[in-house]
Amino acid sequence: MADSVRAARRDQAVRAAVTRSLLTEDHPLAALLDLRTVQEAALSLHAAFEAVAAPGQRILHTFAVKAASLVPLLRLLDGFGIGCEVASPGELALARAAGLAPGRVVLDSPAKTPAELREALSLGIALNADNPQELARLDALVPAHPGHGPLGLRVNPQLGGGAIDAMSTATATSKFGVALRDEGARDWVVRAFRERPWLTGLHCHVGSQGMTLEAMAAGVATTWELAEEINRAAGRRQVRTLDIGGGLPVNFASEELVPSFRAYAALLRDRVPGLFDGRYALVTEFGRALLAKAGFLLARVEYTKSAGGRPIAVTHAGAQVATRTVFSPDAWPLRVAAYDAAGLPKGGPLIGQDVAGPCCFAGDLVAVDRPLPRLAPGDLVALLDTGAYYATNHFAYNALARPGVYGFTPQEAGPAFTTLRRPQTPEELLAEHGGDR
Ligand SMILES: *Cc1c(COP(=O)(O)O)cnc(C)c1O
Repeated sequence: MADSVRAARRDQAVRAAVTRSLLTEDHPLAALLDLRTVQEAALSLHAAFEAVAAPGQRILHTFAVKAASLVPLLRLLDGFGIGCEVASPGELALARAAGLAPGRVVLDSPAKTPAELREALSLGIALNADNPQELARLDALVPAHPGHGPLGLRVNPQLGGGAIDAMSTATATSKFGVALRDEGARDWVVRAFRERPWLTGLHCHVGSQGMTLEAMAAGVATTWELAEEINRAAGRRQVRTLDIGGGLPVNFASEELVPSFRAYAALLRDRVPGLFDGRYALVTEFGRALLAKAGFLLARVEYTKSAGGRPIAVTHAGAQVATRTVFSPDAWPLRVAAYDAAGLPKGGPLIGQDVAGPCCFAGDLVAVDRPLPRLAPGDLVALLDTGAYYATNHFAYNALARPGVYGFTPQEAGPAFTTLRRPQTPEELLAEHGGDR
């Protein structure tokens, strides 16, 4: 039911995007985000954890900013009670520009510079150190920053990868966190905490997309067990916060919103009951699962042709906005919806067609031999479930301009649009490419 309502809202938004000229010859590509769906996702995340948490247990849900790095969106999510997980100085600047309070921001990054560490400590945001060398830097900096926020350590439970290698952060040789199963590592971690009273958190994030819920829960269980071990060794409740990361996978195959936050929270409650006995404050860092199903890329079909018997639609959405799909099509398949030039859903017999992008390399295809109504110049294609890690994770190929990103909300008179990011201007594009030299 909710799934079909969401699909109907999308159709209305496509039609309205055409009548309001969001998509023109000058701007043949746009990204749209259903803000009602975003709100529903935020509510479902809160409800899922509230259903299993101890009364009064502190839970900070944050949004992994890399999934959709847009200041107005971060502000909106903050209003829905979702803070920010940032992983670079730029992402931190975006969170600050969105007005996030320091207590609602967590910094994770494997490559924090001393300047970044100092900034995080001065601001009082939470920070998770990645490795022993970073902890040593903190040893020197922490005494000078009495107002620092909660400080934690990222661990890698090394429980193996998921379906997508590049997204799996808990492999034996992952670059992230302290590899817990390496010889002596676990004892070293316990000692590191005993020597640093200011270290009060543990962090793990075992992967993004392609991880099973069981694997995610196993990573959280390992982290919880380590927290218990550290606290036993310290003889006090030194570890007070468990940051369980993000990584809930998204269903790219159909409209259905599965797996749900509710299913994940229920599984965590079953596998790691101690997580919800109220002794630990919790932090989550979901990105894709909060945003992906809410967004889509909308592109005009410029030309249609045929080669070797294969019909091809050349559109304006390719590797510059669907980078992962173009370079790893098996790992990141996308559904494609066809609309006519007026923005109405296109009907007719389905014909296998390639949906190509505008980039000048042969592999710039977002779908191959995909059954779709026969596309014609001026039609529109929508790349579905691209609300996270697509339009805002731009690949600067062929100096193609970055598209506008528009939020929409249903209203009596039709969808109301709000600009989350203007389309890049020719001047901005030139400046990005050294045009100011
Ligand atoms: C990318 C990332 C996330 C978010 O992952 P999703 O799959 O988008 O939920 C959370 N935490 C860390 C540390 C990450 O690197």
